[in-house]
Amino acid sequence: MSLTHPSPNFGERRGGQRPELVVIHYTAMASAAAALERLCDPTAEVSAHYLIDTDGTAFSLVAEDARAWHAGAGAWGGRSDVNSRSIGIELANLGAEPFAERQMAGLERLLADVMTRWALPPQAVIGHSDMAPDRKGDPGIRFDWRRLALQGLSVWPETVEAGGSGDFYTQARRFGYPDVGADAVLTAFRLRFRPWAEGPLDETDAALMADLARRFSVDAGAAQA
Ligand SMILES: [Zn+2]
Repeated sequence: MSLTHPSPNFGERRGGQRPELVVIHYTAMASAAAALERLCDPTAEVSAHYLIDTDGTAFSLVAEDARAWHAGAGAWGGRSDVNSRSIGIELANLGAEPFAERQMAGLERLLADVMTRWALPPQAVIGHSDMAPDRKGDPGIRFDWRRLALQGLSVWPETVEAGGSGDFYTQARRFGYPDVGADAVLTAFRLRFRPWAEGPLDETDAALMADLARRFSVDAGAAQA
């Protein structure tokens, strides 16, 4: 089910930019009702295009062609002002609990629609933690990125032989991560792709990142466009 619940917190996309990314968030609030109130409160100055409740209900808050205020400082693919070039989707979740099955199904329906509407490839769907590794941790360790990737709604690194994969940070920048230091990027990378991994950077991190950079690099995307 989809409902309209307009938020006053939006503006024009700057420089005529169009959505080329989708940024996934969790609300870190106790209920969808509380999150809706905040995302529509003019004094809060935050919003998103969509909020998805735990039962799968999608609330449309800001029109897709407008600039919602969800991303904040950060960058992806070497470019900042992510708000001007993305669609923001909030999931009602405190951050430490599993995402409900009906909520994930609702997200998948919405992502499929948005990606068709704006002709977005799977690598366009990223987490808030990806574009702001030094500030943000959502959608967090409980979010099932692999499930999305299996449906072509995001990407997942293939298991590759470790070694000979190049410098982790260089490959991370090619994939899209911002220039915030290798430690912060490793944390964000593992949060999304290796949540069970511990300890210092290892060969598997480097090999998986090299695979992402090889198949989905920002440069390659631009060259194909
Ligand atoms: Zn967020």
